[in-house]
Amino acid sequence: MKEVIYTIPINDAYDVKCGCPVCCLEKQLNDESTEYVMGAAMMEPDVRIETNRLGFCPKHFSEMLGMKNRLSLALMLQSYLGELLEKGVVADTSHISKKDMEAISGKLYESSHNCFICNRVNEKLELFIKNIIYIWESEPEFREKTREQEYFCPKHLAQLTRTAKSLISKRNYSAFCEDHFGVTRKLLSSLSEDVTKFCNSYNYMFRHIPLGDAKVAIERTIDFLNGDNERD
Ligand SMILES: [Zn+2]
Ligand SMILES: [Zn+2]
Repeated sequence: MKEVIYTIPINDAYDVKCGCPVCCLEKQLNDESTEYVMGAAMMEPDVRIETNRLGFCPKHFSEMLGMKNRLSLALMLQSYLGELLEKGVVADTSHISKKDMEAISGKLYESSHNCFICNRVNEKLELFIKNIIYIWESEPEFREKTREQEYFCPKHLAQLTRTAKSLISKRNYSAFCEDHFGVTRKLLSSLSEDVTKFCNSYNYMFRHIPLGDAKVAIERTIDFLNGDNERD
């Protein structure tokens, strides 16, 4: 890889050693992208064209709604509504041809299944993933750090191993997978034991056994599956 641009944020996220480090990076990208779109970018014509074309998903609309800059959001909505009007959504469609209606439906489908912020985060995350793979391959200390992580969530485990397949050698690929699956396997075994303990607590034969950490087994399992690092 010619340029490694994200070494510092990647190492910072890996130093936390709590939850999935890639989730941590994705969250930073998400926050940065939401702030970007609600800031000066909202006034840039190029960005406006893209936000009009792609729209936003419910999660990001609600995040933007929770932010302070209401004028930015209102200006973006003004432009977005104008775009919808141009797409003919509320125009007189009583005599519209099937072909024209199909084109309108196509545009609506595109904007209702896309999100400007999600797309931006995904593009940047792809670069992070490539950088992670490069650093893992070139720095033994980073491999050590990888093995010290709490886990990698299913989504990022898949993304890392899928991307690494075309970027690293066959010999290194097995070691790369094992470094990532190894830590995750440890967490999975502990979750599995705790969920079983939790289920057993409903059986009178096991009621005398204290639940301990298994009390929050359901929450911890769902956090792992969703890649959510934020619950205490
Ligand atoms: Zn993750
Ligand atoms: Zn989104």
